[in-house]
Amino acid sequence: MAIAGGNQEEEKASLGVPAMEMRWTLNDFDIGKPLGRGKFGHVYLAREKKSNQIVALKVLFKSQLKQSQVEHQLRREVEIQCHLRHPNILRLYGYFYDQSRVYLILEYAAKGELYKELQKCKYFSERRAATYIASLARALIYCHGKHVIHRDIKPENLLISMQGEVKIADFGWSVHTFSRRKTMCGTLDYLPPEMVESIEHDAGVDIWSLGVLCYEFLYGLPPFEAKQHSDTYRRIVKVDLKFPPIPIVSSAAKDLISQMLVKDSSKRLALHKVLEHPWIVQNADPSGIYRAG
Ligand code: AMP
Repeated sequence: MAIAGGNQEEEKASLGVPAMEMRWTLNDFDIGKPLGRGKFGHVYLAREKKSNQIVALKVLFKSQLKQSQVEHQLRREVEIQCHLRHPNILRLYGYFYDQSRVYLILEYAAKGELYKELQKCKYFSERRAATYIASLARALIYCHGKHVIHRDIKPENLLISMQGEVKIADFGWSVHTFSRRKTMCGTLDYLPPEMVESIEHDAGVDIWSLGVLCYEFLYGLPPFEAKQHSDTYRRIVKVDLKFPPIPIVSSAAKDLISQMLVKDSSKRLALHKVLEHPWIVQNADPSGIYRAG
């Protein structure tokens, strides 16, 4: 499968490799331990031989991509992620492919998946939640400035770097757009009313998802969770937002969540206003780095 886009000369240069060499191959890397398994393949720790840079190499099987008809989605993901440069967006340095596989050369996020951390802690402290939400708001402001809507912000798509910064890692549902979109995508729990109801949607979908994420960070569960899909639908459409008494969460945090989870997407708190919200100002570490203790 040929993937369009991506400037390999520039990407190779950024890994300290002379720009003249046009193509990556597996021979450019020493392959290390497996980091995890995804739906379409495996991810390995790897070292780019010439620069010695540590990366994560994602190996995807073309047959599985074809079977699930996600080649188009992958191509879009690669094209978008290759061009984004932000401290809270996982870098995609480049890609290459052979007969049976596609390889993505990704920034290595040493502390792994955020949702595993959330499972371990059940819920995050306000300091930790606010630090992540501020970082993600900054990353989304950057994306929206480039007309990229992520559309699938959720804990499973976030990784943590060695330093403790959150990184948006999956652009599989993202879209580059100047127009309003009408596609149904993403995971139910994080879908805003206008996507559930298949009305046109815009960058406001990411503000909604950030509100859902903030709730899940603080309470350990997404706000509209229900046993039946149909009940989750109903709760989202009604914006049936309830704050349980336990764990104890500050009223400032609840205020921010309530301002993001607003049915009318044009009335959701703008991302730059999220950064100015008192709960963020008082709790988020300005470095964007969460350190335990
Ligand atoms: P995925 O196919 O993206 O779901 O990746 C499968 C698993 O590999 C993830 O759940 C992570 O544990 C791990 N992983 C993927 N990408 C990276 C990365 N850039 N750095 C560290 N671990 C990763």
